[in-house]
Amino acid sequence: MSTMMELIEELWFLARELVSDDYDKALYRLAEEVPMTIHEYPTGTQVWTWKVPEKWTCHEAYLETLDGRRIIDHADHPLHVVSYSLPFEGVVGRDELMEHLHIHPTEPDLIPFVFKYYQRDWGLCTTQQVRDLLDEDEYRVVIHTTFEPGTLKVGEVVVPGEVEESFVMAAHLCHPAMVNDDLAGVVVGVDAFRALLAGPKPHYTYRLLVLPETIGSVSYLSHNEDLIPKMVGGLFLEMLGNDSVLALQQSFQPESQSDKALVTALRGVSPEAYVGPYRSIINNDERQFNAPGVRVPMLSLSRVAKSEENETVVLPYPQYHSSGDTPAIVSQERLEAARDAVLAMAAAFDRNAFVVNHFKGEVFASGYGIWIDYRVNPEGHRNLFRIMERCDGTRTVADIALDLEISFQAVWEILATFAEKGLVSFSPTPQPTDLRLKPGGGMP
Ligand SMILES: [Zn+2]
Repeated sequence: MSTMMELIEELWFLARELVSDDYDKALYRLAEEVPMTIHEYPTGTQVWTWKVPEKWTCHEAYLETLDGRRIIDHADHPLHVVSYSLPFEGVVGRDELMEHLHIHPTEPDLIPFVFKYYQRDWGLCTTQQVRDLLDEDEYRVVIHTTFEPGTLKVGEVVVPGEVEESFVMAAHLCHPAMVNDDLAGVVVGVDAFRALLAGPKPHYTYRLLVLPETIGSVSYLSHNEDLIPKMVGGLFLEMLGNDSVLALQQSFQPESQSDKALVTALRGVSPEAYVGPYRSIINNDERQFNAPGVRVPMLSLSRVAKSEENETVVLPYPQYHSSGDTPAIVSQERLEAARDAVLAMAAAFDRNAFVVNHFKGEVFASGYGIWIDYRVNPEGHRNLFRIMERCDGTRTVADIALDLEISFQAVWEILATFAEKGLVSFSPTPQPTDLRLKPGGGMP
């Protein structure tokens, strides 16, 4: 079994295009690390309002002077050609070349990641440093690419639970020769699922999807519409290895139990992390899950730095979408911290349920051996009573944590002792215990 960093070292330089041999190679390699079902959707398949693209291959691509001096060569780096570039061969004037030669907007020594999946154009990419030296009138361009029928592939890992209702995680494997976006999310997902598969059977079913961005999510969801009503929560994993604190973006339905459980669990495992509303941190496959007709409350976990207000140009991290996104900017330690956060959130989601009290009045805490000495642990003492008074069958563990502005884990720790003493039990549905709400009871 390879570590997350070993998988990154092995797979990162592949030209993992949406539908491509290198993408497939990476996916099959991951399937050796964790039991995975691979779904295939052929080119041209209608998937809701989209269509599965053709398989694209770049056989060679270069820029030369007319006397044969090679300036840019795809063999050196997959990013030198625009993803899904049309083939082209010919001698072009410098002005025409400049319309098809892309550079990074801010970093002069990085090659940008440019993709034209649906625009149908040809193009090369290089560093600004190289482009600025182009002073000849004409150059020779060779782009030998092919478009052909293929199959888009989605890898699915399932951890069966006691119920069919599922929590879905996703990460995208596409993006040629890049690491943090989003091979990092993929390996964190794979490693988290190795742990889930090795652990006790969970309550919910857990599903990991490894896919090409956007079109992969649409392909999978449109072919599994029957599963959608049972997807009760979700988490998209992206950009999890760079040097920034964890960031949790809420779903389109911030009041969901998925949101409440994940937000309060992250507090317990990564107090320095921050939380932001939907579409405020990243924009990715979670959009397909939160969209109309789907509406899975899917949050996103990343390491996107918190942006200051009024900042106009924000990159999720400095090497984003460029040749600077290499294994050097991620670390095993940060990947592991992200995996631990994912597992803590999954554990909280799994435990989250309505807390039903089997006591009336305030519990005689010392009599039950659950009293916390306020002189030793004043916060624990306060939390004990604040949690106790919220156990009424109408609030979940996460509701209580959110209300008290403490972590899910802190609430769970106390409720676990309550449950051990038979003072509370947990229910997937509300079970109000207020006597006045029962038949014959008074008005609230
Ligand atoms: Zn990206």
